[in-house]
Amino acid sequence: MVLTMLVDIDHLLATPIYDAERCSIGFHPLHGLLPIIVYLLMFLQPRFCYLRYAGLGLLIHMGLDSIDCYVNQGYWYQP
Ligand SMILES: [Zn+2]
Repeated sequence: MVLTMLVDIDHLLATPIYDAERCSIGFHPLHGLLPIIVYLLMFLQPRFCYLRYAGLGLLIHMGLDSIDCYVNQGYWYQP
């Protein structure tokens, strides 16, 4: 599950790499609504348990990033 933090590699594509005033969710390519749906499907599929753990880790990651947004910006998702 720690490996799922690698999803933040898409932050490296942005300039500046880290900006406290920016909301990751909806901004970075792997933090969009479509990838989040994919993570949810990974978590919900019953067959491959490693994929489930990865999906869960990614959903937790998105949740934490979203909470970070809400605390700093007052919204959950970058429009
Ligand atoms: Zn992130």
